[in-house]
Amino acid sequence: MINITFKDGNQKTFDQGVTVEAIAKSISSSLKKNSVAGYVNEELYDLNRPIEVDAEVEIITKDDDKAIEVLNHSTAHLMAQAVKRLYPDAKFGVGPAIKDGFYYDIATDHKISEEDLPKIEQEMRRIIKEQTNMEREELSKEEALERFKDDPYKIELINDLDDGEIISIYTQGEFVDLCRGGHVGNTRHIKHFKLLSVAGAYWRGDSDRDMLQRIYGTSWFTKDALDNHLEILKERKERDHRKLGKQLRIFDIYKEAGQGLAFWLPNGYTIRRALEDYVYKLERKAGYQHISTPVLGSKSLYQISGHWDHYRDNMFPVMKQDDEEFVLRPMSCPHHMLVYRSELRSYRDLPIRYAEIVTQHRYEASGSLSGLERVRAMTLTDSHIFVRKDQIKQEVLAAYNLILQAIKDLGLDIDYIELALRDSEKGKFHPNDALWDEAEALLKELLDEEGIEHTVMTGEAAFYGPKIDIQVRTAMDHVITMSTVQLDFLLPERFDLTYIGQDGEKHRPVVIHRGLISTWERLMSILLEQYKGAFPTWLAPTQIKLIPVNNEAHGEYAKLLQDRFIDEDFRSETDIREEKLGYKIRETQTQKIPYALVLGDHEVENQTVTYRKYGQKEQVTVPLEEFIRLIRKDIREKSLSNN
Ligand SMILES: [Zn+2]
Ligand SMILES: [Zn+2]
Repeated sequence: MINITFKDGNQKTFDQGVTVEAIAKSISSSLKKNSVAGYVNEELYDLNRPIEVDAEVEIITKDDDKAIEVLNHSTAHLMAQAVKRLYPDAKFGVGPAIKDGFYYDIATDHKISEEDLPKIEQEMRRIIKEQTNMEREELSKEEALERFKDDPYKIELINDLDDGEIISIYTQGEFVDLCRGGHVGNTRHIKHFKLLSVAGAYWRGDSDRDMLQRIYGTSWFTKDALDNHLEILKERKERDHRKLGKQLRIFDIYKEAGQGLAFWLPNGYTIRRALEDYVYKLERKAGYQHISTPVLGSKSLYQISGHWDHYRDNMFPVMKQDDEEFVLRPMSCPHHMLVYRSELRSYRDLPIRYAEIVTQHRYEASGSLSGLERVRAMTLTDSHIFVRKDQIKQEVLAAYNLILQAIKDLGLDIDYIELALRDSEKGKFHPNDALWDEAEALLKELLDEEGIEHTVMTGEAAFYGPKIDIQVRTAMDHVITMSTVQLDFLLPERFDLTYIGQDGEKHRPVVIHRGLISTWERLMSILLEQYKGAFPTWLAPTQIKLIPVNNEAHGEYAKLLQDRFIDEDFRSETDIREEKLGYKIRETQTQKIPYALVLGDHEVENQTVTYRKYGQKEQVTVPLEEFIRLIRKDIREKSLSNN
């Protein structure tokens, strides 16, 4: 007999070799039904793995976060068995659970396509019906090498394990797999799954090695949960900014022009201009001065700033011309330092806030490029604020509040705030501990004083100083760093920046680097996915579409409105094509234009407009002046009423 202790301290004795499933059953039949796996002395156990010694047991039930992972990983084994039956030459890489799903990497001469997936699913259902046990066996390294001698990938994985380590394998019918464990014990526990897609994946993520075929799938405890998840995936596909960007003519990337270099098309550029105008106004109100500096910088400039040492891998190679060496700038900080240094500064001049719409270039590996999310040339609104030490807190806070304002105006949600500090063990941070301590303490104090909840991330600071990062959760459920406020005592030293203090002596200013709302490229990818292309009126490329019922009879009125809207700074277009009225109206919906105006006899006679708002069925007739007031309000309030 062995003693089993539960999490609540209760104890019970069982026969040696008892399983988690049997323990669950001894407590209640509903617990048995809900059990998925267990922790035995904190080790993850399969539902059917025998327990041989006294142990602390925690049963994992279907509501636990871990359960869905165990189920998905078990489904990966099931899929591998089915694949092996269909394609007997198949060899297997790794098959882990991932968020809401699983994958398995497979090598087979058969080129697996999406059309094969239903066939594999069918074979999986057959194996489920066979109610196959997933049996654990423990081997020495030598025995394991012998068992998997025909499978080069598993041999490599086994050889990576320490000598003397016990290796576990799982037999599931005729199929054997190498695995640490944590399974549902029998294929009959797997019910609601779907195979989703196939993609290429390099063995061990190394592009010099074999390309395997990766099948993705997802597995759930109930049909409702599966259906719900498939619905979310469908939604995400529709939101994909690459698809929407093409469809709505926002941006494009041309192979002939170079990888990772985005072209802004008329609709996209109109939105970008609206964003630039917005930011320009926001910054002017907050006391920023705007400058513009070159896209090239001399290599020595980046040697002074330290970027050359810390950032070279992300920079494009040096261009030599005459006696000079240039780089495409990866960031604008050094340029702004020079502008500060170009005049004698007094304590009364500070803070000085420079902002610039900066185009910068970064080398990103071609494999990591993706739509507008990751590009090699990007434009952003960057800023450097030069302050006295006694102004640090107020200016960091002002920059932080400006960021909150912008994120709110864009209709995005903050997920969390991160305070990124140095890791003194790591060499990548500048070595002056006293400066670090002072800068880090200041940011911590500020966050605490303002009651700003935050997560501390050690080792995530910039090489020159600690920073506050604002993390946003996107509509695709990704958390990304949207904005940043960074405290820098280093660059002022490197560039020998000074100001004359009240005492008549020279003092060192401090620099605050502020990134407001990511790059235009990244932001556009986020906004496209957030709004599914149906932009709020203040951002929509075309805000109003004018549709005369009859060009001859109503064209003049349309022209009158068009001119009036231009005077009002509204973005409107008139559709005079020889198409059916219904077709024209429907098109405004697919193009996601906020207001469609149909102009006929009634409107001309009464000087009114009849409009239909995007996403709404009913048409509303109002006097022209009232319509203008309505649009003005929609734009001013940055309303989200198109979603
Ligand atoms: Zn496994
Ligand atoms: Zn900077």
